[in-house]
Amino acid sequence: KKEDATPEKSEDNLRSPICCIMGHVDTGKTKLLDCIQGTNVQEGEAGGITQQIGATYFPAENIRERTKELKADAKLKVPGLLVIDTPGHESFTNLRSRGSSLCDIAILVVDIMHGLEPQTIESLNLLRMRNTEFIVALNKCNSVVLIFSNFHLDRLYGWKNSRNAPILKTMKQQSKDVQNEFNMRLTQIITQFKEQGLNTELYYKNREMGETYSIIPTSAISGEGVPDLLLLLVQWSQKTMVEKLTYNNEVQCTVLEVKVVEGHGTTIDVVLVNGVLHEGDQIIVCGMQGPIVTTIRALLTPHPMKELRVKGTYLHHKQIKAAQGIKITAQGLEHAIAGTGLYVVGPQDDLDDIKEVAMEDMKSVMNRIDKSGEGVCVQASTLGSLEALLEFLKTPEVNIPVSGISIGPVHKKDVMKASVMLEKKKEFATILAFDVKVTPEARMNWFKAYIDNLKEQKKKESADEAVFPCVLKILPNCIFNKKDPIVLGVDVLEGIAKVGTPICVPQREFIDIGRITSIENNHKPVDIAKKAQKVAIKIIGSNPEEQQKMFGRHFEIEDELVSRISRNSIDVLKANYRLLMIQAPRRHRVSRLLYVEREAVFVARDSS
Ligand code: GDP
Repeated sequence: KKEDATPEKSEDNLRSPICCIMGHVDTGKTKLLDCIQGTNVQEGEAGGITQQIGATYFPAENIRERTKELKADAKLKVPGLLVIDTPGHESFTNLRSRGSSLCDIAILVVDIMHGLEPQTIESLNLLRMRNTEFIVALNKCNSVVLIFSNFHLDRLYGWKNSRNAPILKTMKQQSKDVQNEFNMRLTQIITQFKEQGLNTELYYKNREMGETYSIIPTSAISGEGVPDLLLLLVQWSQKTMVEKLTYNNEVQCTVLEVKVVEGHGTTIDVVLVNGVLHEGDQIIVCGMQGPIVTTIRALLTPHPMKELRVKGTYLHHKQIKAAQGIKITAQGLEHAIAGTGLYVVGPQDDLDDIKEVAMEDMKSVMNRIDKSGEGVCVQASTLGSLEALLEFLKTPEVNIPVSGISIGPVHKKDVMKASVMLEKKKEFATILAFDVKVTPEARMNWFKAYIDNLKEQKKKESADEAVFPCVLKILPNCIFNKKDPIVLGVDVLEGIAKVGTPICVPQREFIDIGRITSIENNHKPVDIAKKAQKVAIKIIGSNPEEQQKMFGRHFEIEDELVSRISRNSIDVLKANYRLLMIQAPRRHRVSRLLYVEREAVFVARDSS
């Protein structure tokens, strides 16, 4: 194939630049993407577009057509523009290869009404870190509406829309007040950028491009400024990135997403940054269980006509030249990892060398696993987001050790793996899953563990409320203290006497005498005493009235002491200790409760 043989560094041999969209949430990134693509995903036309494959390609003719009002005489030297379909940090962090960005240029969206927001600054830092050029889209310009001036509510001014028009043309149509309002907001935002150490200026006034970043006012709703944005993206990239954009026959390709597609099995959506891919090429991608060596069965792109972009109509290609977003079908892609590189095996290449190179991305994350084997499991949808998560967990404020990692959906086996930690360090028996699906089977396991845990916790919390029924007989000659506290020797006739149990005297109109605060069995403190045990108990009144109660005056040696059971404590017992209750002797459950509280009898019969 002669045409790919000698990459020439020349302006006539350029590939399409790759562009992504970043910015704070709700600044209109998705809307702007729709607007650039001429689609309307947000409004859900005809069931929505189902065939996004990571990136949309705009041929040069399309850009020329859409920017003709700008009368740009400069000829387009690049074949087109490739725009990444998913907005935000995530796609940007995934789109990298050995630390450098795959995006040649970015659109940083700022809401004119809000200015710079936290994620705008995060995006800025990411872009600077990866040395990526960007253009600011000052979006929602159509929201610049002057509600009132001079405090007269009757003077309403608004932005006048002119669909898909260049921004200067639109600007001229606006009233003086709207222009003033616009300029005021623009000045504020330029100042905010300055605070971040960046010079910015309206693009048509920018005389120092390269030193000063360009701002293009846009409306993603009515399309104003979008032609300017498209033209500047293309012109600026082809002017300043000739070297980076020079077409070259060495394949540079990144897996964006691993997807199951009806009729195609597991496919990968890739961005081909440079080089050419052919049907039948032998490729290697990084997999969870090691390198995947396979052969390209089909190279697919969505239909360029948006009307045909409904389910099932992909275009097939014998070969595709960079830059492009492509869906690849091949065997054995189930465990492919999004965010890693795709490598083509040439006739001269050593398979093992390439396998090793392909697995390098994975090595870097493997190195971050805690050697002690104690830690949480982390799972993410892509290598990029996994790396970001691991980085976050490592920061001193967070500092959570990681014992295992995985990419892709949470399966039952992942839950099993994480649950091993229950025996080592309970608090780490956790999967931190980020942007991944959880299979139903795994979900059930997970849910069960969660419920069991909740039950245990509830049991602990309700321990105070749970009063176990008991009947105590006072032992003669064992009255150690008559009052405040009452200290007696008792024989447990029925049930369980527990520390914390409130005690009353049924024969004396159920007077309350306090709670058991300690129990001694053979001079040893214990928490509970079971049926037939003879123990010493200390009872302390919970209120001044109870504290007055005295052996010999309010109750006598022949009186039985029983636990004070309330409706609430019965409910707690039923909810948390059913098993224990059922194991208790029947007589105890029914007959003894009988003289404690009428309602309790009812409940006890229920549960027997
Ligand atoms: P994202 O979170 O950055 O992707 O923001 P979206 O694209 O989802 O937009 C957030 C909201 O702002 C939506 O309700 C959009 O309709 C609205 N919006 C987006 N662009 C514009 C614009 O240019 N003008 C106005 N007035 N509203 C916009």
